[in-house]
Amino acid sequence: MSLPEPQPDVVIVGGGPVGLYLAGLMGSMNFHVIVLEKRLEIDRHSKSLGIHPVSMELFEEAGVQTPFLTSGIAIRKGVAHTDQEKIGEVDFGLCPAPYAFILALPQYRTEQILETWIDDMDTVDLIRGAEFRGIKQNERQVTLTYSLGGEFHELQCSYVVGCDGKNSVVRRQAGLEFTGKTYPDTYVMGDFSDNTDFGPDAAVYLHREGLVESFPLPGNMRRWVVKTDSYIRSPDRAMIETEVMKRVGLNLEHQTNSMLSGFGVQHFLADKLHAGKVALAGDSAHVVSPIGGQGMNLGWLNARNLAQTLKTCLNHPEESRSALKAYSKTARDRAKTVAKRAELNMWLGRKRRFPLIRNLLAQMIVNTPLQKKMARIFTMREL
Ligand SMILES: Cc1cc2nc3c(=O)[nH]c(=O)nc-3n(C[C@H](O)[C@H](O)[C@H](O)COP(=O)(O)OP(=O)(O)OC[C@H]3O[C@@H](n4cnc5c(N)ncnc54)[C@H](O)[C@@H]3O)c2cc1C
Repeated sequence: MSLPEPQPDVVIVGGGPVGLYLAGLMGSMNFHVIVLEKRLEIDRHSKSLGIHPVSMELFEEAGVQTPFLTSGIAIRKGVAHTDQEKIGEVDFGLCPAPYAFILALPQYRTEQILETWIDDMDTVDLIRGAEFRGIKQNERQVTLTYSLGGEFHELQCSYVVGCDGKNSVVRRQAGLEFTGKTYPDTYVMGDFSDNTDFGPDAAVYLHREGLVESFPLPGNMRRWVVKTDSYIRSPDRAMIETEVMKRVGLNLEHQTNSMLSGFGVQHFLADKLHAGKVALAGDSAHVVSPIGGQGMNLGWLNARNLAQTLKTCLNHPEESRSALKAYSKTARDRAKTVAKRAELNMWLGRKRRFPLIRNLLAQMIVNTPLQKKMARIFTMREL
């Protein structure tokens, strides 16, 4: 069974934060876009929370910044500690106005805002419950199969973009390699009601037992991220409470808890981000460690490039090959830089028996003009 004409210009597989943003950009340019999303509803499990100033600038350009600003919490500084001693601050106020902060917002809220944005566009159709199955392409078009409600459907379009996450089926079907590594670092995280006096600040503890990070969340909650010695798939709250008490000296025992999870970290990158009329964006193209909170933001930065690239491809087909090649190079270079920055963050947070040199380095970073450079790196400038 096929969808009625007219056939879309672009089909985006995956309605996560990157697929939804790309759909909104293409729809705003008056291209007809269909988004296939296998989930019936937005996943409430909160993964990312940090939205960087560069992304807020992209949202302003797209005219969708206001709901983000009214829903999130502006983190204007990060307070750094070694063990329980404060060593200094990284001031995001040094970043260019008006977005001189990192916005904290759970990923599901981000997806809700982006979905509401595209819902208002006549040019974009989001089909929930639609699972991408297969792809065939020739010089003129792509034919794509998906399942919906137990039936298989076929759809023709000019371009397909895989925004279907790190286990991307689109990537596999397009024959694109995904190479990289898993780091030895592992973490647990939990969202607890806030009993700190940190206010809207982030707090980072470079403890000898390993990193602890604490970020404000809307609704008077805080996210705690704790470095562990090994991967714990389903941590219990007592384990996080014990480690926060030991490393930070704060008692979370009587706080309400809304989320617990454990995660390992990886860096993977597609060898090429296009194959014929298929392109990749977001985690299907590049996975970076979430320590430093930049993966989703990287996805948006590259999706902005891809939207311009697809515009060129659709309006000037003769330039499509070189445009997609240029997109692939820019996006891959950016992903490599972001991955290196995340590696520095992970290195700073590792468990150490003799933390003196690391601590001196951290003190130097937060107490010298290097702080300005660090604020730029933490907020994803110079990419
Ligand atoms: C613990 C943790 C914390 C993080 N914190 C941050 C942070 O603070 N800041 C940051 O920038 N990044 C962060 N990240 C990374 C961020 O979550 C990802 O980079 C981001 O989700 C990638 O978005 P995406 O849209 O590319 O992919 P995804 O979010 O994975 O979305 C892919 C979508 O595709 C759909 N899909 C998959 N297969 C199919 C199919 N066959 N057919 C149809 N639909 C399909 C899925 O259902 C899903 O909705 C964090 C990650 C983790 C694990």
